[in-house]
Amino acid sequence: MISVIGAGPAGSFYASKANDAHLFEEHKIVGRPVACTGILTDSVKSIIDIPEDIVVSRIKRFKIVAPNKKALYVDLKKENMVLDRHGFDNHLFQKAVDNNARIHLGERFIGYKQKDKKYYVKTNKKTYETEMIVGSDGPKSQVAKSAGIYGNRQFIWGWQARCKFPELEEGTTEIRLNLGEFSWIVPEDNKIARVGVIGVKNKKLLNDYKKILGVSKILQDQSGLIPLYNPKQKLRKDNIFLIGDAATQVKATTYGGIIYGLLAGSYLAENKETYVKRFNEKLGKDLWISLKMREFMNHMTEQQANELIDIFQKQNNNKILSEHDRDFPSKFIVQLLMKEAKLWKLGFQLFKKKVLK
Ligand SMILES: Cc1cc2nc3c(=O)[nH]c(=O)nc-3n(C[C@H](O)[C@H](O)[C@H](O)COP(=O)(O)OP(=O)(O)OC[C@H]3O[C@@H](n4cnc5c(N)ncnc54)[C@H](O)[C@@H]3O)c2cc1C
Repeated sequence: MISVIGAGPAGSFYASKANDAHLFEEHKIVGRPVACTGILTDSVKSIIDIPEDIVVSRIKRFKIVAPNKKALYVDLKKENMVLDRHGFDNHLFQKAVDNNARIHLGERFIGYKQKDKKYYVKTNKKTYETEMIVGSDGPKSQVAKSAGIYGNRQFIWGWQARCKFPELEEGTTEIRLNLGEFSWIVPEDNKIARVGVIGVKNKKLLNDYKKILGVSKILQDQSGLIPLYNPKQKLRKDNIFLIGDAATQVKATTYGGIIYGLLAGSYLAENKETYVKRFNEKLGKDLWISLKMREFMNHMTEQQANELIDIFQKQNNNKILSEHDRDFPSKFIVQLLMKEAKLWKLGFQLFKKKVLK
């Protein structure tokens, strides 16, 4: 028996591919409460089918607004999808059920004991003898804590709500560079949007949240915690493995984690012995680049953010953004740096500022 702890996207996807999985979820309903925007790049389709009925809207372009209010439009070569996150989690969960995973809803993992090569997983209901444990139990992973591989992880906070606006630009996601570490308005249609801001949870972030909410009316709060990618995070201890947010597998540029969690789940299901190496080799570079990009962006002054928008107004640079998948920056960052000397200059200024800080 394999004990999979947490029926979020990473855990359910893993359980849809592994044999003899028991899927434990502390909530009685899968996919609730929602704390996610549900925006995914086209690359998700190479990992899993997305049924039309869970696609709420499609994003054709990004509008990135500089602190000086100048706006940059990036037309996406491949549309992004905005998903019904509750529906998406249930779609994956159903795949786990179809793969004969044994389901334990309303059952919370508390800890485990180890004797010889066996683990004894304790939940709020029972104890189970198990050969392997998969921690897909989100940012504050109890599995990671119990196994002593929680590490020195850091978190940031995402304020988010589903909101009603008088009028929205349908199909266009708006990003404002001067609010939080990252802020967004992702429309479901021309009136409703998922609106949020991410950063260290403090008064300033709350004020930024109020600014991005603007005149909209909150319909539903969807805020939540996000782990910061830790390149030193241990993904395995003996036969205990971590995937998804539990393993801090979230890209720090836009703080999206779904695609990485799905890929981690599939690598682990394919071969547990190669999981750690394969994940780090295939995706570690992208997560690391995203982390560094985030560190640079967090050190940007308003003037530098304005400059950045000017740099991307140039047709060649804009084209690179519109044609490449932001989930995998290693595929285009070199190309961008080769083409744009001003990025080097900006990067160097930020590097100096960061080092001398
Ligand atoms: C405001 C916000 C917006 C976001 N927007 C996006 C976005 O647009 N695109 C994107 O890709 N990512 C986004 N993310 C990140 C994304 O939500 C996560 O990366 C993703 O949910 C991680 O999936 P997971 O399966 O690893 O963990 P989770 O989705 O956190 O699932 C973990 C599951 O484990 C269960 N669990 C926890 N502890 C236990 C326990 N002890 N016993 C049993 N069950 C347990 C939980 O109930 C939960 O169901 C956003 C996050 C936030 C906060």
